[in-house]
Amino acid sequence: MTNLTQLNERIFLIDAHDLGRKARTGSYIIKEEKITIVETSASPSISYILEGLKELNIHPNEVEYIIVTHIHLDHAGGAGLLLQHCPNAKVVVHPKGARHLADPSRLMAGAKAVYGEDFDRLFHPIIPISEENLIVKEDRAELTIGPDCTLVFYDSPGHSNHHFSIFDPVSNGVFTGDTIGVYYHELVKDDIELFLPSTSPNQFRPDAMLESVEKIKSLQVTTIYFGHFGMTTNVNEVYKQISFWLPIFVNAGKESFAEHPLASPSEHKNMIKELILKKVTSYLDERNVPRNHDVYEIIELDLDICSMGIVDYLLK
Ligand SMILES: [Zn+2]
Repeated sequence: MTNLTQLNERIFLIDAHDLGRKARTGSYIIKEEKITIVETSASPSISYILEGLKELNIHPNEVEYIIVTHIHLDHAGGAGLLLQHCPNAKVVVHPKGARHLADPSRLMAGAKAVYGEDFDRLFHPIIPISEENLIVKEDRAELTIGPDCTLVFYDSPGHSNHHFSIFDPVSNGVFTGDTIGVYYHELVKDDIELFLPSTSPNQFRPDAMLESVEKIKSLQVTTIYFGHFGMTTNVNEVYKQISFWLPIFVNAGKESFAEHPLASPSEHKNMIKELILKKVTSYLDERNVPRNHDVYEIIELDLDICSMGIVDYLLK
């Protein structure tokens, strides 16, 4: 079975099997005059990207740009390793992310704090990228990758401060990383589109996230390419659901803090997770999704990290 899906005339999605899971984190290949990859996932995912390139008859030497929407390891952890295979490429990153790709020690320490002894299996190796191989793109900066294709970068904080989204004029689409949420691919076969915000630590800011939603909405795109996972053309549903769920996520945190002033951060995390999970479950119940559906495993995993981010935000 192939991990490569053609999304439209010139954009392909590779399932990068982040954390060893299917349909979790994707890399996009834009087949333009200058071959461009968007998102690398972590280092264990790079073999999937190389396989995908092979299937497309693209030699790694032909790759000119590797763009990472933000520097979290599930989006950029493998960029240094991929660059070793693609010696002619440059890595394109948000101005606030560049120094962490050049010196990943802080990124690694952060991930070790969250993933503990699983760190090596999930993320090793994290290879520094020398500054001459980095290209920084400020808000509204451009990158021409083909005769008719100039990508535009939009600063899009909320999930993290080092996050941009990338507008592709040819497909009238935008690569949003984690800015405007996660698309639960497991429900696509049931004809249900669920989009939940990604509020992970430690730079989550709900106001900035909503502003980023508005900014992306104003681009009037017809396609959204998510970091997790895949694309949708039902863009208004994305904006609607993120604006609906985000206050529910934050209010779960406020409720936990108000009702249990003496609870520890990890107790808050668990209470917040339970509160949000209850709302998501009733939303899915109404749509006849059985409680033993695969999607719940992923939702619980995500809500665990999201709840940590909410605790972190409320403690600041
Ligand atoms: Zn992510």
